[in-house]
Amino acid sequence: MGNAYKRVLLKLSGEALMGDLSYGIEAAVVQSIAQEVGEVVRQGVQIAIVVGGGNIFRGIKGASAGMDRATADYVGMLATIMNAMTLQDALEQLGTVTRVQTAISMQEIAEPYIRRRAIRHLEKGRVVIFGGGSGNPFFTTDTTAALRAAEINADVVFKATQVDGVYDSDPKLNPEAKRFSSLTYGHVLSHDLRVMDGTAIALCKDNNIPIMVFDLSVPGNICRAVMGESIGTIVGESCEIS
Ligand code: UDP
Repeated sequence: MGNAYKRVLLKLSGEALMGDLSYGIEAAVVQSIAQEVGEVVRQGVQIAIVVGGGNIFRGIKGASAGMDRATADYVGMLATIMNAMTLQDALEQLGTVTRVQTAISMQEIAEPYIRRRAIRHLEKGRVVIFGGGSGNPFFTTDTTAALRAAEINADVVFKATQVDGVYDSDPKLNPEAKRFSSLTYGHVLSHDLRVMDGTAIALCKDNNIPIMVFDLSVPGNICRAVMGESIGTIVGESCEIS
C-alpha cells in the first residue's frame, strides 16, 4: 500500500513530549517519536514539524500569574525552541537529517524561518522543525501549524493528541459516545470542538488543508496516518460517524 500523503505538517504539542512527567521532556517519548518520524521519512514522505511548548511554559498561565501577556507569550515561544532542539537531537541521533528554523532569530543555534529554504530542505528529505511558533504573541502553535502548512503547501496537518479522534460527546463520561471518522471544519467551529483553536481551523478551511486527529501514544500511528488508514478523525469537507 502506498502513502496517502507526500508532504505532512506534524503538530506536536509540548505535552506530547512530556510522557508521564508533570513538566518537561521525557527522553524515551521523544526517542519513540523520532524513530517513527525517521521511518516515515525513509519511506519518502516529507515531514515538517511544529512543536508546542506547553510542557514548559504557556503564556496564558504566566499572564494569569501577573506577567505582561506579550512577554509571557515570548517566553512560551522560547520554550517551543527548546523542544525543537531536543527533537532535532533525537532525530539526528537516529540518523535522520533535520533543520530547525525559528520564527525568532537565534542564528547561533538554528536557521531563521525562510519559507523557500524550508521547502528546499523538505525536497532533500530533511525534516524541518519549526520552533518559536509564529513569532507573534497572542497566537498558538496550533495556528502556527496551520500557517506553516499553508506556506509549505502541505497535503495535510497531523494533529497528534492523546485521544484517538473527535467524539460526539465526551467518551470518558458517555460510554455510548461515537467517534467521527470525518468531520467538517464548519461543524468543529460551530460546536466549538477543541480539535485545534478556531484560528487554526479557519486557516485550514480557507486553504483546504485537511486535519487528521489521532492518538500519538499508539506506536506506529504516524506511519498509519501517512498511509491514510482511518485511525482517528479527519477534519475536512465531509462528516461521518465511524
Ligand atoms: N506562543 C505564542 N505565539 C505563537 C506560538 C506560541 O505566543 O505563535 C506562545 C504562547 O504563550 C503559548 C506558548 O507559546 O502558550 C506555547 O505554545 P502552545 O501553548 O501552542 O503549545 P502546546 O499547547 O502545543 O504545547
